Amino acid sequence: SWSSWFSTAAVPSTRHGQPPRVPNLIGGTFVDSKSSSFIDVINPATQEVVSQVPLTTPEEFKAAVSAAKEAFPSWRNTPVTTRQRVMLKFQELIRRDIDKLAMNITMEQGKTLKDAHGDVFRGLEVVEHACGMATLQMGEYVPNVSSGIDTYSIREPLGVCAGICPFNFPAMIPLWMFPVAVTCGNTFVLKPSEKDPGASVILAELAMEAGLPDGVLNIVHGTTDVVNSICDDEEIRAVSFVGSNTAGMHIYARASSMGKRVQSNMGAKNHAIVLPDASIDATLNALVAAGFGAAGQRCMALSVVVFVGGSKSWEDKLVERAKTLKVNNGMAPDADLGPVISKQAKERICKLIQSGIDDGARLLLDGRNITVPGYEQGNFVGPTILTDVQSNMECYKEEIFGPVLLCMRADSFEEALEIVNKNKYGNGASLFTSSGVAARKFQTEIEAGQVGINVPIPVPLPFFSFTGSKASFAGDLNFYGKAGVNFFTQIKTVTQQWKDLPGGSGVSLAMPTSQ
Ligand code: NAD
Repeated sequence: SWSSWFSTAAVPSTRHGQPPRVPNLIGGTFVDSKSSSFIDVINPATQEVVSQVPLTTPEEFKAAVSAAKEAFPSWRNTPVTTRQRVMLKFQELIRRDIDKLAMNITMEQGKTLKDAHGDVFRGLEVVEHACGMATLQMGEYVPNVSSGIDTYSIREPLGVCAGICPFNFPAMIPLWMFPVAVTCGNTFVLKPSEKDPGASVILAELAMEAGLPDGVLNIVHGTTDVVNSICDDEEIRAVSFVGSNTAGMHIYARASSMGKRVQSNMGAKNHAIVLPDASIDATLNALVAAGFGAAGQRCMALSVVVFVGGSKSWEDKLVERAKTLKVNNGMAPDADLGPVISKQAKERICKLIQSGIDDGARLLLDGRNITVPGYEQGNFVGPTILTDVQSNMECYKEEIFGPVLLCMRADSFEEALEIVNKNKYGNGASLFTSSGVAARKFQTEIEAGQVGINVPIPVPLPFFSFTGSKASFAGDLNFYGKAGVNFFTQIKTVTQQWKDLPGGSGVSLAMPTSQ
């Protein structure tokens, strides 16, 4: 198979000759782009060039959309049970190849192997969910809305849909998108992140092995140009985006001005409020895991902790625990966190930490100057904790997207709620307490789409939807769950009359009513 080099990818070599080029997938064939512009995919722990990803040409993009358009009529008419069976096989193949997928993710993205397994597994659960699509997309029926007349609604696929992915979950996020879309009967054009496109290609190979017909899933690589082509193309009916606010709001505006449906999941600044009655051990573990896991590069990572009442003893213990975390190449079995995605990302994170210090925050733990023996070139940032953070500081206002936890203090629960609600983002928020009354107040008053109570920021399982709000989401229908099925289908309402028509009732031009 084309991606045989992925199988040997466990041993990234300093390649003699050219690094492999990542193919596009057009009409069921993996093809090397004719483009002369390529971007290096770089292992963030070693700086080795893993592969090269092409900036797809306009002709190749057009060919991918045409392939998806051509595949649509017969795919939409394929029985839903058959489409489900493809997903059933697909989930089995993902399980078979989960190690290969995880290895590729660690190599291109940097997260630890264990975390990379989690990346695949959380996507796999969406595939499992799509196996029940016949039930999920059922319509509605009301008999006898008027004498001899029945009305029913059916959910139909839209046509060609497209997805644009971020770097931080190379498997999970493509799997939030195309399995739901294609099992609803759509065809798809996927644009993976140019920073780590490998997992998408492996997943596409598996989907085809599972029996997905040619043209139902296509892949085009690239950056802004191919994204703009997706927004502008008249054949594409819906766009799913996950990534930063800059790109997401641009895509939302541009694609919806072309009449497309758009769902856009964007940036975050997730807060936890810790009340004095919170269970100490469990809370500290949760804060450390959610703050530093995946080197803070999760949209549901915890960025800010607001301690109500005294914070000193909490902070001391937090530092103690954070210090025990092992920063290493994600391939190392004992690694707790791997590198951040790029040199530029590391620079930006360090700049934001410094700006916090310059603005008066106190540095309790500094991860900026860490070196990892054997991987001196890696983009490593160790766990970093700043306290005395105020909401007007740049480090607070910006999404840092690194292993940096900001600590704030509030005198009361109300004041803490106000801090969180004033933040422009609304992805997730959590509360740590042993008071049910406080928990209930939090659930009611918090302005965030995903709420954790004694749970750090939880990403919902696929029978619910991913429900970020405020600046973290643009659109009407969220990813996966019921909303995801609604996003990828449109409703057709049919009214039919079957009765022995009594002759000679005459013609009435008045608005028909059921009276
Ligand atoms: P990014 O916005 O830089 O890139 C995402 C995608 O958009 C890529 O495919 C990229 O090629 C494309 N892109 C980038 N800039 C563009 C532009 N100007 N015009 C058109 N296309 C453009 O995001 P990233 O750095 O890959 O991912 C990190 C971000 O994603 C963070 O902000 C994180 O919070 C967010 N994220 C959000 C969620 C969520 O569900 N809310 C999940 C994961 C990541």
